[in-house]
Amino acid sequence: MNSPRIYDLPSSTERIAAWTEQLCLIPGLSGYEDPVREYISDQFPDAGIQRHVDAPGNLILTVPGADPAAPKVMIFAHIDQMGLIVRRVDDDGYLRVERVGGVPERVLPGLNMIVINDRGQSIPCVVGTKAHHATPPEEKGQVLGVDKLFFDLGVDDAQAVADLGIAVGAPITYRPQFSRLHGNRITGTALDDRAGCAALMELIRTVLEAPVPATLHAVFSVQEEFNLRGAMVAAQRLKPDAAISIDIMVASDTPDLRTRGALQLGGGPALGMYSFHGRGTLNGTLPHPTLLNHVSAAGRAIGLELQRSAHSGCLTDSSYVQLTNEGVPSMDIGFPARYTHMPTEVCDVRDLCGIARLLAETLARMPAGFSFERRRYGCIC
Ligand SMILES: [Zn+2]
Repeated sequence: MNSPRIYDLPSSTERIAAWTEQLCLIPGLSGYEDPVREYISDQFPDAGIQRHVDAPGNLILTVPGADPAAPKVMIFAHIDQMGLIVRRVDDDGYLRVERVGGVPERVLPGLNMIVINDRGQSIPCVVGTKAHHATPPEEKGQVLGVDKLFFDLGVDDAQAVADLGIAVGAPITYRPQFSRLHGNRITGTALDDRAGCAALMELIRTVLEAPVPATLHAVFSVQEEFNLRGAMVAAQRLKPDAAISIDIMVASDTPDLRTRGALQLGGGPALGMYSFHGRGTLNGTLPHPTLLNHVSAAGRAIGLELQRSAHSGCLTDSSYVQLTNEGVPSMDIGFPARYTHMPTEVCDVRDLCGIARLLAETLARMPAGFSFERRRYGCIC
């Protein structure tokens, strides 16, 4: 392995930032997450971890608890990202596409993208758009649907596309990028949810170093951006006592969203109080009150600032995980992110460190006999 040994870097902040960077640079459209999964698995020693990869491609890394009778908790983050897929190759070599997940069409024209060919290589392309000098005033504010866009590989005919190893069904993502902004802020493609994966990796490292009674089933899940159900398969196998999702939550500290909520970058991990997606799925997550109480108490015990999110329009696969088997006490933990699903999402590494600390404390405070019996939220007794 040529990459630096991030596992041994001296601070949580450095490890999480470095893992997030490496993960953002690996393309992994829903259904094509294998290189991301292999990278994550390679970061961990064999000792102390049980590994399993299921049929959809979820990576399950289990760190058995110090007490086998203590709860088993599935904590998951998705390794896939949204993007597009080749629908048709035109005779003159342009690609026509379909969306995979929530790609914002208004940012696509003029972007750098990559197509993964049949040898797993990243082939650069750009999204064609009418030359500015030829755009009439009435078209300057228009957003074109994805069916009107054409992707340009720099070739002149369909044969050249075939020679590049690209055909109908080839995955497309933003050209991977990552950079550090001022202080602890980072920007990159697919911080949703590679930054969450990095926080989960840090959690694994933490409980390997300082064992806790509860068993951690860390699940790096697939196809969240496609159908939100990849993690269900892992939950059906693991039958956890509780499940917690780590994913983005929409920050509202930009000029356009200030009245939408109260989530701030750097303000700490966010408790998911409500998510709902009414456009077809009719699903969302209302947190299990006992689990929510417990996570809140863990945060207070270590003096961690926690935020809250109640937000419609997005959801995570906890919505489906909570309905598996006989029902699983579930909730979302989020890190605030700006410009979600854009190629330049922004988040704050301190929030990711906070998630790893919060969840390590959550597991540390779950001895044998811990009860998930429903108790009203806010009731600590
Ligand atoms: Zn996500």
